[in-house]
Amino acid sequence: MKIAVFPGSFDPITIGHVDIVKRALPLFDKIVVAIGVNSQKKYLFPLQQRLDWLETVFADEDRVEVAHFEGLTAHYCGRIGARYLLRGLRNASDFDYEKTISQLNQIVGGGIETIFLISQPAYSHISSTIVREIIKGGGDASPFLPEGLSL
Ligand code: ADP
Repeated sequence: MKIAVFPGSFDPITIGHVDIVKRALPLFDKIVVAIGVNSQKKYLFPLQQRLDWLETVFADEDRVEVAHFEGLTAHYCGRIGARYLLRGLRNASDFDYEKTISQLNQIVGGGIETIFLISQPAYSHISSTIVREIIKGGGDASPFLPEGLSL
């Protein structure tokens, strides 16, 4: 079974993330959207809230699972039998960052392959960071959020 892990903070999930998962579904049997928990990192939204949003957004996709993990992403993949990582690329700085992580994961994860999907032009400016800034500034972030997701 071809299982891919789509790891991230999803703080919060955006329509850019959803697009990557939907476009990757034909490539895999199952996609595990997994929140990596890093105790050093400060998040705007609590883990449970972020998990609930993922559950809501992917409720109708029976081949998408929602999970969270601590420690290295590559080790998590090993534990659940996933041989692929899924990541989205928006621009050259995503590429530079992702290239190193992907090479590292291939070594640490014993051959885990990262599959990259280039974001749609309409979504390439969307990031969780931007959404958090809008929220903190009291603006309306709903154009960037999946339908039915209210903050
Ligand atoms: P991280 O905390 O690891 O950066 P994110 O939750 O910000 O995780 O993002 C998870 C993945 O989704 C990353 O591969 C990121 O590049 C991708 N991604 C985020 N926003 C978009 C977007 N608008 N279009 C395509 N991919 C995206």
